[in-house]
Amino acid sequence: MFEKLRSAIKSFTQAISERTLSEEEVEKILWNLEMELLESDVALEVAHELINRVKCEVIGKKLERGTSSTEYLKKYLMNTIFNILSQAKPPNLIDLIREKRAKGEPYVIIFLGINGTGKTTTIAKLAYILKEKGLTPILACADTYRAGAIEQLSEHAKRLSIKIITQRYGADPAAVARDAASYAKAHNIDVVLIDTAGRMQTSKNLMEEMRKIIRVVNPDLKLFIGDALAGNDMVSQAKEFQTFTNFDASILTKVDADVKGGAALSITYITGKPILYLGVGQAYSDLIPFNPEKFVKSLFE
Ligand code: GDP
Repeated sequence: MFEKLRSAIKSFTQAISERTLSEEEVEKILWNLEMELLESDVALEVAHELINRVKCEVIGKKLERGTSSTEYLKKYLMNTIFNILSQAKPPNLIDLIREKRAKGEPYVIIFLGINGTGKTTTIAKLAYILKEKGLTPILACADTYRAGAIEQLSEHAKRLSIKIITQRYGADPAAVARDAASYAKAHNIDVVLIDTAGRMQTSKNLMEEMRKIIRVVNPDLKLFIGDALAGNDMVSQAKEFQTFTNFDASILTKVDADVKGGAALSITYITGKPILYLGVGQAYSDLIPFNPEKFVKSLFE
């Protein structure tokens, strides 16, 4: 009898101290949050899906009376975004390189992405970081298609005082990549950084070319380079490259210009792959590790 009474009192106390989040209230608040995401350049389909997911999870939830539903939903959404970003954990690149070197093999990284995203600059920046860590990188220009590609990468190699492997324009890109890997093995080089061509991502030829290089050199890491300023376009490029190459992680460039950085959420959400670094300028030292916590806050600033 006492049990029944106790439970009746508990329900009564709960009823007056709690309230239920209604569908109408949730929709109104989430609509505003969706607009904030879009203003931060989160891709349309990502913002929409994410908000719908949160909506399904929170309608009917009980809130303590006095708790602001707007604050609650904002925190809930930020937590959801943080979980998405931190589930995709970036590998510790330096450790991976050292593990491979312990087996006497060079660590091979291939860079994928369309022209203009900052692929070549990012390769040079990563070479700079590796040198700073006491490792020896070499560059391989497997873009034998775009006029100026070989000269551009060679210029970086010269400035960074590192070896570059090239062939003539029109040569087989997979052969250049294989040459570089063999050279690295023979000369005790730690890391091979392979630049690739990046004409339109919808070009089937390009995707076949990437697949061929990947089959021939079997890289340890496939990195997709995305331009943070390209918005929905970057998302469709990432999808296409993921379908054909199943890349391992991405690097977002030009984040210095993209103050809000919604691109980071879009790419992680769409690909489920971690972001390894952010490009934050044109200098060699402008490549920084991605920090999910800082990023989530910046989305709603
Ligand atoms: P690729 O065609 O993909 O190899 O692109 P490039 O490396 O040639 O870069 C295209 C342009 O973007 C160049 O002017 C770079 O200096 C610039 N760029 C690359 N990364 C960044 C970055 O993180 N921030 C800024 N502001 N510019 C960048």
